[in-house]
Amino acid sequence: MNPKTVSTIKKELIQRRDVLMSLQKKNSQADIDIVEVSNKDLVDLSDVEGSWFTKERMSFHLKQELSQVANALVRMEQGTFGRCEECDAEIPIKRLRVRPDATLCLACQETAERDMSRSSTQFLQ
Ligand SMILES: [Zn+2]
Repeated sequence: MNPKTVSTIKKELIQRRDVLMSLQKKNSQADIDIVEVSNKDLVDLSDVEGSWFTKERMSFHLKQELSQVANALVRMEQGTFGRCEECDAEIPIKRLRVRPDATLCLACQETAERDMSRSSTQFLQ
């Protein structure tokens, strides 16, 4: 892959990581807000439960995306970013923008998923 392209994506990923980390911080501070709110009898409990659920999901999503970004940055350091682990083909840039930590090209990904569903079917039988 073009080193220029890699460095552009790297910059984007680092920016993304900063955004994600500040969201994570905000999200964890939301915890305190919810605790404060729940101490007041005025608040409808379903509202509090709703925010808690959203917060948990948000936290899960942020963690997941942060680890994707971190993995992609590690792969950049190793020089394996954007290369398929299976067939050594270049992973299309479009795919990498959606999944920066993708380690397989689309064709190999599909094969892997087929194998996975086949083995899980065997497991069920
Ligand atoms: Zn491949």
